[in-house]
Amino acid sequence: MTARRTERAAGRPRRLKRAAFTVALLFVLFAAACSPPKQGGTVNSGGYVSAFELTHRFNLRAEPDAVRGVFRFTGDVELTVLAGSPSAVLNGERVAFRSPVLFRNGDVWLPAEAVGMIERAIARSRIYTYSERPFSFRPSTPPPTSRPPATRRPSRRPGVRGTVVLDPGHGGNDSGAVGPRTGVKEKDLNLSVAKRVRSLLAAAGVRVVMTRTADVYVGLRARVAKANAAGADCFVSIHHNAASSPRTKGFEVFYSSNNPFGSLRLKRSVRLARDIERRLRGKWNTRDRGARHKSLYVTRRTRIPSVLVEVEFMTSSEMEPLLTSAWFQQRAAAGIAEGILDYLRGR
Ligand SMILES: [Zn+2]
Repeated sequence: MTARRTERAAGRPRRLKRAAFTVALLFVLFAAACSPPKQGGTVNSGGYVSAFELTHRFNLRAEPDAVRGVFRFTGDVELTVLAGSPSAVLNGERVAFRSPVLFRNGDVWLPAEAVGMIERAIARSRIYTYSERPFSFRPSTPPPTSRPPATRRPSRRPGVRGTVVLDPGHGGNDSGAVGPRTGVKEKDLNLSVAKRVRSLLAAAGVRVVMTRTADVYVGLRARVAKANAAGADCFVSIHHNAASSPRTKGFEVFYSSNNPFGSLRLKRSVRLARDIERRLRGKWNTRDRGARHKSLYVTRRTRIPSVLVEVEFMTSSEMEPLLTSAWFQQRAAAGIAEGILDYLRGR
């Protein structure tokens, strides 16, 4: 069947052939997804591994298509999976997992045997460069969920009312922290994550005011003035952290309890911090360092509920290489945006 289709398509533009292949692939995957689930539930004894972990360990790029539930990993191997289905296509060949791929909390979870399959595929293609660094992971259980359904886009109720001031820390000649191995500058990471948060919030109907949208210096006083003048519901400053130990990692969310603008504002700041902390939890493999008080200029001087998010430690030898990836930044942004939306809905 494949051969005949190839012959017929041979004289046509390559684009048509590619489209036909995509349609065929999707058909195979969706047909498999519709077949009745195997007995034994969704989580097998071998456990699951998150797509984030896979991309991290095998240096793969992930192209998620949350609408169709199709996820493509590219790099030393090409793997296409479909949420809800045990069928996948690995380097052009159909393979089957013992249990279906799951889509939970914004991440894709693959049955743990996918690790061995990918390792063997890489070894077969003779560009296996990971032998000195054997893959080790603890098979885990995907977080429980009642929603979203496997192949549907995570529900985000449109039209959340509110205005949010996003404050990407540093900028211009103030670089903030600098990655000790990559030389990446905190100001750039802050702005990149903040812009992603802005997109996610705007898509949900929230009005967003940014204290800066380019690589320019903005003083702390000017940031606070902008926040106080915006008629906004809350202020979220976005930073990346630094520590002396390369082993220190994790995110943390700060509010200032020594802000002079009243107990209601403080109460709301604490709630905003906890909402963001809760949504960041589990977005990537790191430590939750909590939501707590710290006396910081921008959270101390703003009249509206305010928090400062330290996304991750740039000095962490494990985390630093990840911080510039779109995959990581999008997950960080999703956690922050989801927390803000929780806060705005819960007012
Ligand atoms: Zn900073």
